[in-house]
Amino acid sequence: MSPPDTNPLLVVPAAIPFDAIRASHVVPAIERLLTEARAEVAAIATDTQPRTYDSVLGRLEKATEPLENAMTLVGHLESVTNSPELRAAYNQVKPEVSAFYAGLPLDEGLWAALESYSKTDDARALPAVKRRLLTRTIDDFVRHGARLDPSGKKRLEALTRELAQVSQKFSENVLDATAAWEMVITDEAKLKGLPRSAVEGAAESARSKGVTGWRFTLQAPSVIPVMTYLDDREIRRDVYRAYNRRATEGAHDNRANIGRILELRREKAQLLGYKDFADLLLEDRMAKNGAAARAFVDDLARRTDLAFARENAELEAFRARQSETGVLEPWDLGYWAEKQRLALYDFDEEELRPYFPINRVISGLFETVERLYGVNVVEDPALPTWGAHVKAYAITEGDGTKLGHFYADFYPREEKRGGAWMNGLITGDAKIAPHVGVICANVSPPVGDKPALLTHDEVETLFHEFGHLLHHMLTRVEVRSLAGTNVAWDFVELPSQIMENWTWERAALDLFARHHLDGSTIPQPLFEKLTKARTYRAANAQMRQLGFATVDLMMHMDYDPTRDGDPTLYARSIAQRFSPVTLPDDYAFVTSFGHLFASEVGYAAGYYSYKWAEVLDADAFTRFKEHGVFSREVGEAFRKSVLERGNGSDPMELYREFMGRDPDLKALLERSGLA
Ligand code: ZN
Repeated sequence: MSPPDTNPLLVVPAAIPFDAIRASHVVPAIERLLTEARAEVAAIATDTQPRTYDSVLGRLEKATEPLENAMTLVGHLESVTNSPELRAAYNQVKPEVSAFYAGLPLDEGLWAALESYSKTDDARALPAVKRRLLTRTIDDFVRHGARLDPSGKKRLEALTRELAQVSQKFSENVLDATAAWEMVITDEAKLKGLPRSAVEGAAESARSKGVTGWRFTLQAPSVIPVMTYLDDREIRRDVYRAYNRRATEGAHDNRANIGRILELRREKAQLLGYKDFADLLLEDRMAKNGAAARAFVDDLARRTDLAFARENAELEAFRARQSETGVLEPWDLGYWAEKQRLALYDFDEEELRPYFPINRVISGLFETVERLYGVNVVEDPALPTWGAHVKAYAITEGDGTKLGHFYADFYPREEKRGGAWMNGLITGDAKIAPHVGVICANVSPPVGDKPALLTHDEVETLFHEFGHLLHHMLTRVEVRSLAGTNVAWDFVELPSQIMENWTWERAALDLFARHHLDGSTIPQPLFEKLTKARTYRAANAQMRQLGFATVDLMMHMDYDPTRDGDPTLYARSIAQRFSPVTLPDDYAFVTSFGHLFASEVGYAAGYYSYKWAEVLDADAFTRFKEHGVFSREVGEAFRKSVLERGNGSDPMELYREFMGRDPDLKALLERSGLA
């Protein structure tokens, strides 16, 4: 153990000494920061001085900052340089830190201090952003039980505990039920249609289990190619049915767990004074309540119906022309859709790769944000990082003022988790002392001496995460907990998703999509194929998402176990309205729907956010399109109204400030070819 004064996690400096942080620093630093934070919180409650912003709210903000910075950093390192020691240290401190945060709203002394401060003249005279912090803190404490009497608080804690247990059980059942199923094929003729990579994967899976033949499982990389390419219809049917019946039987049956989770959530909402769980959850989101979220989903579904019917008729006709007869079943959809896609577009994603060498993509991305927002991004090799493959960059204003720096870690490694993400490591203070962030991805690495060549999808991902990064790096909100990406869940994807639009614009692509050998731009016919393939069966994709969103909202608003019975049948009957074909009687996708049930909250009552955010980004991008996609003027407006403002104002107000009106669904429908 190091002496406390040399522990780099105690006060994390902007130039984070990654080379000096050890797993052995974690436990002593977090323990000490927790003790200090607890002492500060207790001191706020017992302080006898007149209550002011600085002695109550401001002090609470400061009390948790060192702990939050250290925990964020440790969590980040656990994601990118996982070692058994680091993971053990992180897991050791995590429950205590979560318990500390969960206990704040139930701390009677702290609550009394907040309430009495809120009634002072000082509180009434607060400037807008600090006023917002006060209102939100009070509301948040109330939503977490601050106003309950002692028996109510006890009940709330019991509900929260049981919810954690049952959702944990739910998620274990999904894992176990998924792992419990396999199909081994020994007749090679039955693999017809499958791409070679899927055949090799199945052979490898069989070898790893010591069986001969080809082994298929219910993991996505096994299921997706089967449903998309395999000619054998009976195998497709068996895989489909097994997949959508996971966790409905025996020891892994999740039906009762779903019923219990919904019951606990409803009781929690009602204990806190809300009609249902959706209203509790959505109060501080853009939608504000369950009814508004449902109205949004219904409206979008109605406006997708016509195109949905057209796509389904086209697919039926296409299939009939291939002289396949009989009813189109759910396990035929992906298969025939892929055949039709090939016939219509003959588009292979791989053709684009040579046009996306990573270095050009990155410099094009930087140039795009330089043109739009007037900032400069330059590499800063002086900053320590967590590995040779990680690069550090500074972001400065045009006049050289430093806004902050960030680290970029783009390629997969064994000790790094999958996916792509942005993390704000440090939020600068009121004078906008440097912000620090990271952007991580797992894109195709370089092969041999060729540069890394990306797929369009990967390019989109990098632009997406960079949008989150800008939201963090450009923030000018002086209150840390309202800064950057600390915004409502149905707003947080606007800055990221809007960036994806530049990867679909010819003018932007020509900036960075250049062939790695001769520097040529994407040929027009290939660009057209890319654009057309984007909207292929968009109504089906949209209806599928809207179906999930509706099931989610209905289960958290209307479902009544005594009236509606088996939750899987209830969910199936709703999903049917959004399906192009009749679903099997035992279709039970909710028993493995982790988004809704695998954690205490997760995406519960929030699945609609995916589409909500798409509406916002498609709509907001129309202003860029109108004035040229590199318009500095529109960029500046977006920066001033959205990127700099974090959660300092109501997100709908920020949106209106930028667009001059409410969001409109039309742009998303047009972009998806559904208008
Ligand atoms: Zn995102």
